[in-house]
Amino acid sequence: MSLQVQPQVSLKPFNSFGVDVQARLFAEAHSDADVREALTYAAQHNVPLLVIGGGSNLLLTADVQALVLRMATRGIRILSDDGSRVVIEAEAGEPWHPFVQHTLAQGLSGLENLSLIPGTVGAAPMQNIGAYGVEIKDVFAGLTALDRQTGELRDFTLQECNFAYRDSLFKQLPGRWLILRVRFALNRAAHLHLEYGPVRQRLSEQGIEQPTASDVSQAICSIRNEKLPDPAVLGNAGSFFKNPLVPAALVTQLKSEYPDLVAYAQPDGQMKIAAGWLIERAGWKGFREADAGVHKLQALVLVNYGNASGLQLLDLAQRIQKDIFARFHVELEMEPNRY
Ligand code: FAD
Ligand code: NAP
Repeated sequence: MSLQVQPQVSLKPFNSFGVDVQARLFAEAHSDADVREALTYAAQHNVPLLVIGGGSNLLLTADVQALVLRMATRGIRILSDDGSRVVIEAEAGEPWHPFVQHTLAQGLSGLENLSLIPGTVGAAPMQNIGAYGVEIKDVFAGLTALDRQTGELRDFTLQECNFAYRDSLFKQLPGRWLILRVRFALNRAAHLHLEYGPVRQRLSEQGIEQPTASDVSQAICSIRNEKLPDPAVLGNAGSFFKNPLVPAALVTQLKSEYPDLVAYAQPDGQMKIAAGWLIERAGWKGFREADAGVHKLQALVLVNYGNASGLQLLDLAQRIQKDIFARFHVELEMEPNRY
């Protein structure tokens, strides 16, 4: 028995909103054996199992009546290297950004646009994390997950993961698959994505016209540091709403009334509206009620100024959703996973 199960543990340090709720039971998994032990423990004690990583995409609205298992497995290994393409595997509990930095330090390109995203490697496939024009599906080479219903291990290919915008098979089937390790196909020669938002501009300002993957990573870190609140200082879960995908006709209609509406064409003909623009335009940017608020610099981010409860944050989010629908006829979908 290596799993240490503790009763009544505050989850405040384990969710980036800093919401103070209790887990009925709490344990950390440092190995596959710990994971299996936690599954057995939960079944024997008839409690649900909630797996978490860094807690940076969670909204906890009440005490969690479950065994909360924090993935703390570590290990990074190169599986193949043909001199140009390298397949690298990381354990689920590896912190994401240090893993990205590790790959860059090895001279590997592919993850640079995903720099400074909080959380763990194991949670990254859950919503197919994305930023600055890259999603993990673009560099994904497979993962190994445990079927919580049968206890069997299964390897997933790219196609089997059903990755989509902030979505995957694993998000669609909550509680079914426990991701143990993830594989990425990276390149020794950099194929950089610089066209998104202010990335190229930031590099030019620094006099860098022929950037390396590490240059791109540093530029993205500096942009993110300027704009996004650090959860260690101000509780948040990043973007609280997904950018809505809507029919192009709706954007045409909205643009006649709001010519400065920000929306981007998608390959399937739909348009993606910048939800932050809608929320800012509706006057919510910088809004605060008690300790729940909308960030002053980025309207897509809800923040906890100290003692906001998950329910207060949820209430604020629902009021924003209603207001945006009333004004623009656009439905906003919440991004964080709610428990
Ligand atoms: P958690 O919040 O712990 O868990 C998220 C979900 O995954 C939960 O449902 C949990 O049950 C499940 N889960 C966790 N680990 C596993 C596992 N091993 N197996 C099965 N299920 C699991 N996201 C982006 O996509 N792009 C961004 O640019 C971005 N920027 C952010 C910036 C900030 C400041 C913050 C706070 C968040 C940001 N996010 C972003 C959201 C978040 O960082 C990601 O979604 C991240 O992948 C969550 O990882 P985590 O380990 O914290 O997951
Ligand atoms: P931003 O650059 O101000 O852009 C606003 C929105 O417009 C973004 O959300 C982005 O959608 C979209 N966009 C911008 N340029 C685009 C382009 N060239 N083509 C298509 N769509 C474009 O956004 P930001 O808030 O500072 O975030 C920067 C990046 O980090 C974004 O990719 C964002 O998703 C990511 N991010 C995500 C989270 C999270 O929690 N999910 C938190 C912080 C940052 P997309 O979001 O679809 O890319």
